[in-house]
Amino acid sequence: MYHLGQETPIVQKYGGTSVGTLERIDSVAQRVAAQYAEGFKKIAIVVSAMSGETNRLVDMMNGINPRSSLRNYDMAVAAGEQVSVALMAAALEKHGVPARGFLGYQLGIVTDSFHSKARIESIDCSKLYAAWDRGEIPVVAGFQGMTGDLEITTLGRGGSDTSAVALAVALDASFCEINTDVDGVFTADPRVVPDARLAQEMDFEVALEMASLGSKVLHSRCVELGAKYSMPIVVRNTFKPNDHPRTLIMNFSPDRKLEAPIVSGVTLDKNVVRVSLHNLPARGGIIGSAFEVIAANGINVDIIVHNRSSDSDTMRVGFTIGATDLMRTKDILEKWTLERKLGAYIEVEGGLSKVSVVGLGMQSHPGVASRVFSCLEDAGIALHMISTSEIKISCVITDKEGELAAKALHKEFVLPID
Ligand code: ADP
Ligand code: ASP
Ligand code: MG
Repeated sequence: MYHLGQETPIVQKYGGTSVGTLERIDSVAQRVAAQYAEGFKKIAIVVSAMSGETNRLVDMMNGINPRSSLRNYDMAVAAGEQVSVALMAAALEKHGVPARGFLGYQLGIVTDSFHSKARIESIDCSKLYAAWDRGEIPVVAGFQGMTGDLEITTLGRGGSDTSAVALAVALDASFCEINTDVDGVFTADPRVVPDARLAQEMDFEVALEMASLGSKVLHSRCVELGAKYSMPIVVRNTFKPNDHPRTLIMNFSPDRKLEAPIVSGVTLDKNVVRVSLHNLPARGGIIGSAFEVIAANGINVDIIVHNRSSDSDTMRVGFTIGATDLMRTKDILEKWTLERKLGAYIEVEGGLSKVSVVGLGMQSHPGVASRVFSCLEDAGIALHMISTSEIKISCVITDKEGELAAKALHKEFVLPID
């Protein structure tokens, strides 16, 4: 288990809703000031932009040029955190706590150069230690970093969670607290499935699948880092008392897996686009080359389907990506097929969602996939693509059936506690 010593660094992240108004910032500052007064002086705060702010910045960039370079995009969208850092530091000062705001570059949060979805490579904690030595609480901008060439980068939407866990690892904190607008990680998004239950404990493995399959409460990279460095993550409600139920994510003992529920959670990702490459010449090297150019541009591909009938000299490859990568993927593939004179054409299909069930218990219970398909079909939902792994089953469906699908699967697998 984790422990809370006054000398152990504590990292607390506050998300967009938690800092969404001046009143909320003030109330967070009061919580932190009370902990400081109790003797917890080694607290580092990570904040997101005020809710809606990053969307506003993204919309402005898209309004001026949806094909802008990602370097320029990052420079604009990183700006929201600059304001909330300063407001939070000022609120702490008001409550008698010396505080100092830091932007990513000021702390040496060095990332790779994949703009808009950069990965943190290192953090220089010396300024944080110096702040603590002066009795100050550092307030750090989430979501942003810089490359070795001092270019501003961002970590992908929702990336402040990752900033916080990376900081907790760098500071050797005993855990990382993610403060948000729900009580923790639920068995499904409580806004979509009102019956969803709070999971008070969750293994990294399940949390990672849920995060990467679209459960927005945690950025998937933050869970990846937590698992890699065994950094427990506590997800709690910013505005509930400290003893309110919450979720603790950590490595639990391997025997627990034997007793794990078949399905621990249901996720819904509304951000899915399918790209199909039709009429590709059926010869060696083509598919590798297409995915190589996609990967080189930092685009994550999810479910892939490949069709080739034996009597044809052409083939078709379909795959899903996040909606934000659509324009660039299309541009890149159009250039790729033109340069190689392949005669292929690209079809793009939006309006899709991916619904998934996740659970460690699936490993020892056969037949879960057929139950998933029957449950969706009984609800009248058509399946467009399917992908499975040992601990998850995902189906691509239309957007408009997404919520119905999540509710049906939650009712089938999670509500009857097994
Ligand atoms: P923050 O601004 O604090 O980072 P987010 O909006 O990024 O908060 O994430 C919190 C939201 O995630 C919740 O309001 C909830 O609607 C959504 N969510 C999606 N899946 C889940 C889940 N399984 N458990 C809890 N919340 C979830
Ligand atoms: N402000 C960023 C976003 O809206 C990062 C975050 O909230 O975690 O995506
Ligand atoms: Mg978030």
